[in-house]
Amino acid sequence: MSDKKCTVRRNVLVEARVVLDPPDLPYWANTPERRMEALKDWVKEVQDFYRDHRSRDMDGLDVEAEYKDLCSVCGQEWEAAEDDETKETYCAYCGATLEAETKSVGDVKL
Ligand SMILES: [Zn+2]
Repeated sequence: MSDKKCTVRRNVLVEARVVLDPPDLPYWANTPERRMEALKDWVKEVQDFYRDHRSRDMDGLDVEAEYKDLCSVCGQEWEAAEDDETKETYCAYCGATLEAETKSVGDVKL
């Protein structure tokens, strides 16, 4: 533990990305390497589709948000640890003692 006091920042938006899920991949895409190959083939098909269809009215595009609980001191994902003697909770990453838990900060509901 350290002398620092931290709070847990719950449900913080840490990443947003566009996800376009492929249809079922071929049966042979059954290893990470083959899956990569199949996905590259599929991406090329999608790019060809976009080139040929400028209206871009494709289904299945979505924004995926990623939320995490973060330590207010070090910014790492919150992982609680407990001091055996004092029973105080502290950040397992930086050792700051948990002071209080805060409400969501800057979260965006999609
Ligand atoms: Zn920390």
